[in-house]
Amino acid sequence: MAGRPRNPEHLVPVAQVIQPQQMLQEEWRLQTLLPAIQDTEEAIRWLARRGLLKNEQLCHVCGNRMTVGTFNGHTDGKRWRCPGRCNVTKTIRDGSWFEKSKISLPNNILLLYCWHMDLPQVQVARELEVSTRTVVDWMNFIREVCEEDLRLHPQQVGGLDEQTVAGGTLGVRGDRESGRCFMVEVPDRTRATLEPIVLQYVLPGSHIIPDGWRAYGNLAQVGGGIYLHDVIVHDQHFVDPNNRNIHTNNIENTWMRAKRKLRRQFGTSEDLFPSYLAEFLWRNRYRNDQHYYFSRLLTCIREQY
Ligand SMILES: [Zn+2]
Repeated sequence: MAGRPRNPEHLVPVAQVIQPQQMLQEEWRLQTLLPAIQDTEEAIRWLARRGLLKNEQLCHVCGNRMTVGTFNGHTDGKRWRCPGRCNVTKTIRDGSWFEKSKISLPNNILLLYCWHMDLPQVQVARELEVSTRTVVDWMNFIREVCEEDLRLHPQQVGGLDEQTVAGGTLGVRGDRESGRCFMVEVPDRTRATLEPIVLQYVLPGSHIIPDGWRAYGNLAQVGGGIYLHDVIVHDQHFVDPNNRNIHTNNIENTWMRAKRKLRRQFGTSEDLFPSYLAEFLWRNRYRNDQHYYFSRLLTCIREQY
């Protein structure tokens, strides 16, 4: 007679786990997402398939593969357990981004989705029936993911065609095809402050149009002259004032969008400014596939945890 079936060693069959590249192809809508995560069990499988929950766990005492079984003492309804004598247990969330969260996994996923839709925090709290405090904390965690993603994948602006200095922030928007852009908070606009930033973010050989910033009068000397050549080329080719206006408007539009959004979101909290700026830049970087912000965010979380 067969005994009780052994508990599985994986949350989902290994073959069902998809790669980040496949995740990026997924275009979720509420209509498709809600049924896919309608209860905790479905949500666990949904996350495990996307590498957002560890699909297997080893016992840290004996090294055995742990198995996953029913556990009613936790909102997830399951937990990992070592089949050996050591009796070690772990939550399903162990080692994942959701480890510190107290809310249900379906709600965690919906919070990420609400962030992708850019919903106001009050509305998110109401929709998900969680406290505004919870939403605020989660939005902060998400912005940390954005900050880390920008740090892990730094992007230099190349083929630069404009720059401006606005409101204590140096903003440069690069070639308009890619929409590359960076904004860095600066304490002042001295050359000593700005030069290293230019070197960090702007590719050598870029076109730079100084826009009312005197320090750039010495641009030829920045980085030992790496920007010199193309600035001269630029002056020869972009003297048309109409052209110049278009370029100037572009960076101003980007900066206006940033300011409008940052003011709406972070109000007067100076501490949070860099993290909101990171969110803005993150959204700007991936703005050509806005429909995939949610999938993109999921791949960032997967990479970082
Ligand atoms: Zn063990």
